[in-house]
Amino acid sequence: MLEKGENKEYLPIEGLAAFNKATAELLLGADNPVIKEGRIATVQGLSGTGSLRLAAAFIQRYLPGVKVLISSPTWGNHKNILNDAGVPWSEYRYFDPKTVGLDFDGMLADMKDAPNGSIILLHGCAHNPTGIDPTTEQWDIIADVIQEKEHIAFFDVAYQGFASGSLDEDANSVRRFAARGMELFVAQSYSKNLGLYAERIGATNVITTSPELALRIKSQLKRLARPMYSNPPVHGARIVANVVGDPALFDEWRAEMQLMAGRIKQVRQKLYDELVAKDKSGKDWSFILKQIGMFSFTGLSQSQSENMTNKWHVYMTKDGRISLAGLSSAKCGYLADAIIDSYY
Ligand code: PMP
Repeated sequence: MLEKGENKEYLPIEGLAAFNKATAELLLGADNPVIKEGRIATVQGLSGTGSLRLAAAFIQRYLPGVKVLISSPTWGNHKNILNDAGVPWSEYRYFDPKTVGLDFDGMLADMKDAPNGSIILLHGCAHNPTGIDPTTEQWDIIADVIQEKEHIAFFDVAYQGFASGSLDEDANSVRRFAARGMELFVAQSYSKNLGLYAERIGATNVITTSPELALRIKSQLKRLARPMYSNPPVHGARIVANVVGDPALFDEWRAEMQLMAGRIKQVRQKLYDELVAKDKSGKDWSFILKQIGMFSFTGLSQSQSENMTNKWHVYMTKDGRISLAGLSSAKCGYLADAIIDSYY
């Protein structure tokens, strides 16, 4: 960057053009008709949080009174973001404690019960905090219900590439919805997959039905961004554009992401093996393997999670979530002992 003599002048309100092009292409694939036909409005955002916040501001202004449905549970900041944007929200069922899996029927029922034209906030991949994602078949049924009810899907994509190790596979949910011609909000973050936490780099995308609409939506997003933060920071945007635009760097990034996602999968397998070997009760622990991404919902209750901390010194969130990114293979046996002791 120094060699290229890049300066620190302001970016335009919508951000760095090369970044916006790269980020939309990473999300949808460069030859996606949505991109070819110019049906997407992309504005660089202040990482995932800021991009969600800008989309929420858009919803508050142009879809006043429309409720956003969020999963129960969800990433804690979703509620704060919607509250601060003045957007009403309610929850849809997502986690089934009995199976430590997806409450798919509950989820669909709550989406069907919501007033037509509601907005459904979905995690594109690697649901935080549960690690439980719908299967491809389930995504298609979710899309059916959203279309029947004339809802709008709002994807939070904070872990693209970091869940399966493949950028394309992790964008499967969004791409399937987009292929149906659905209008979507998509917030992206490069905190996890490029390790750019502190650069605050992400994007708000609105996928729509015509290039004219995309232009109008983009101009309204800019009107909202201008009084909030004027224009976004340049450094992280240049890093993303450079990495994506350089075949050698891009391959290096993809290989590193695969390595990280693979390590998390290995730790999952090791933890599962230890649990099965140590637990004589016959409990089905396969939910650990079915989950994806850096988080695992153990199914431990608040008091059981407290036992993990007080007795075993395993520090975890009280909703039963552990981060597998912070777990070494060597500690899987100890963790399994702690989980079994706390469960029973
Ligand atoms: N969405 C989800 C589901 C997340 O887990 C996170 C990060 N924890 C974010 C969005 C946003 O993170 P950031 O603002 O750092 O991009």
